Amino acid sequence: MSKQIYITRKIPEAGLKLLREKGILFDIGTSKGAPTKKDIIKELKKKPYDGVISFLTDSIDKEVFDACPTAKIFANFSVGYDNVNIEDAKACNVFITNTPGTSSTAVAEHTVALMLALTTRLVEADEFMREGKYKGWDPDIFIGTDMKGKKIGLIGAGQIGTEVAKILHYGFGSSIIYSDVSPCVELDKIENTTRMTTEEVLREADIVSLHVPLLPSTRHLINGDSLKTMKKTAFLINTSRGPVVDEKALVYALENDIIRGAALDVFEFEPKLTKGLIKLPDVIITPHIASARQSARDLMSEIAVKNVISVLETGKPINNVIK
Ligand code: NAD
Repeated sequence: MSKQIYITRKIPEAGLKLLREKGILFDIGTSKGAPTKKDIIKELKKKPYDGVISFLTDSIDKEVFDACPTAKIFANFSVGYDNVNIEDAKACNVFITNTPGTSSTAVAEHTVALMLALTTRLVEADEFMREGKYKGWDPDIFIGTDMKGKKIGLIGAGQIGTEVAKILHYGFGSSIIYSDVSPCVELDKIENTTRMTTEEVLREADIVSLHVPLLPSTRHLINGDSLKTMKKTAFLINTSRGPVVDEKALVYALENDIIRGAALDVFEFEPKLTKGLIKLPDVIITPHIASARQSARDLMSEIAVKNVISVLETGKPINNVIK
């Protein structure tokens, strides 16, 4: 009998093509936007699916696994997998996989774009123009700050952090300081790069950029105290996961000039924004689009599908996240 899988939202053709080539049948969720857990459970009860492709917006836990006990794998269509209850997956004997490295270039470029947008005041200046406020060249408007010479602090130096470091080192001659639970061999080979504690990075960096997964140990890694540790002139960039930052504490820090500015692609209560955030001029916000490139989406689609195929054919996934 043909194998069949359930895909909670549309994925690019690149992955669907691989499923067709293998003769694996698939159903795709039809909810507008992200399905709720209830929607997913309802769909999974309809057929004895052999696997599922899930998204970071899907809440996956025991209730979902129980709805489809035949599914051996939930392949998450993302690098992060904090939407999955890993303990429940272990208990239910389900493989969980992610798509590591598929969006590192995209997220690193978006991160650097956010840094430049902050230092050049690009977004504020664009709004000013659109509002018809430009009355001619003025030496005193929108005074920015140089990227060159800035000390960049990376918290988390995995695939994305390393890409960010390379762009900034080779493109801007930046000196890089980073904290990670383990040393990054690739980064340590680059001159002017030093591994420090997270507290030292916060204290010394002109721009702090977050590239850690969301784990119990990284939730609110940036809180009121860490923001006070940062330089008053420093910028904070978050393209990792929203809850890594205590967003209320960040709004307070920005309102009270504890740090200079911030750029966020991810939010603690996504898609909701903490009160006060959008009123702040020194904040740039983008709607979780750091990996939004067709090249990245196609790769994510292929890798998620390859993990499913691998489990169905060999009983083992390629990118198992359960240690
Ligand atoms: P990765 O696993 O390659 O790197 C994460 C690094 O963080 C690792 O080196 C790990 O050792 C380190 N780390 C873990 N806990 C730490 C701690 N407490 N302090 C310091 N370092 C710690 O992952 P990656 O591919 O670089 O992605 C990082 C995160 O970016 C993902 O987990 C995901 O949540 C997020 N992400 C966001 C987007 C987006 O669209 N905004 C896209 C892709 C990934």
